[in-house]
Amino acid sequence: MYLESERQDVVIYCKKLVTAGLTTGTGGNISVFNDKAGHFAISPSGVDYTDMTPEDVVVCDLDGKVVDGSLKPSSEIGLHRVFYRRRPDIKAVVHTHSTYATVLATLREDLPALSYLIAYAGVNVRCADYASYGTEELAEVTFEAMTDRHCALMANHGLVAGDADIASAFAVAEQIEHCCEVYVKARSIGSPVLLSEDEMRRTEKRFRTSYGQK
Ligand code: 13P
Ligand code: ZN
Repeated sequence: MYLESERQDVVIYCKKLVTAGLTTGTGGNISVFNDKAGHFAISPSGVDYTDMTPEDVVVCDLDGKVVDGSLKPSSEIGLHRVFYRRRPDIKAVVHTHSTYATVLATLREDLPALSYLIAYAGVNVRCADYASYGTEELAEVTFEAMTDRHCALMANHGLVAGDADIASAFAVAEQIEHCCEVYVKARSIGSPVLLSEDEMRRTEKRFRTSYGQK
């Protein structure tokens, strides 16, 4: 099967979206880019994650044309494609409808540096302007909001995360959803104390160079 390993990863991480509580129903989508081929594997539109198989995953080129697969690709193909075209550091994209990110995105608020874990995304997480789901306009405003970041909130919708591989992109989405939850809960009983930009820059560097088994 063409791009078998990328297709398997899409299925594995789509199922994780459900088990990690990062989506409801068929909301959200995942893609993995193979830069040598110039093609990416993306989840099909509106397919139940529990039944999804690698055969269901669609392979597309950077113009959005289907290269392999019989199903229709995710309606957010433009959102995924924009990162592979213009952000060489991003090779996997995870879009979620996770609850607390969506709460903040509905308030159209940026997520400030309330925890060192924000460094998974950068010094903070911006909220993009609103645009309709599945449009090129949504891809553009979200791409813009993710400048120098690995995550952005999508107004009245959810979040998107991107990184060098699918495990890292998924970790960004999961950690930022956790931060959104802590922030919303902290705000409900008081005024969160925020970390400085300097501290966030130091933490981001440590995360990217020496955290875990690196
Ligand atoms: P798809 O099922 O087409 O991927 O759409 C889900 C979604 O999250 C739209 O924003
Ligand atoms: Zn969505």
